[in-house]
Amino acid sequence: MASRINACPDTPETDLHLIASCPLAWQKWSSVFPAKNLEEIARGLLSPSNLPVEDRLSFAEIMSDVWAAYWARSFAADT
Ligand SMILES: [Zn+2]
Repeated sequence: MASRINACPDTPETDLHLIASCPLAWQKWSSVFPAKNLEEIARGLLSPSNLPVEDRLSFAEIMSDVWAAYWARSFAADT
């Protein structure tokens, strides 16, 4: 398995950590949704059909950004 830069070496790399609770990801969530806490974000990720329609595009954009940033770090670690 390729080596990766782990921003949080003491934290298990769960799906929720990767997508939302990692401080690197949480910066984005909290800047776009300052009124939502982690529990609300996680609920929205697990049940996107229950999200308010006006929040859905932002959820998708943040997930895409976080995913891209995660893999950019992973590939950078391989070079
Ligand atoms: Zn992290």
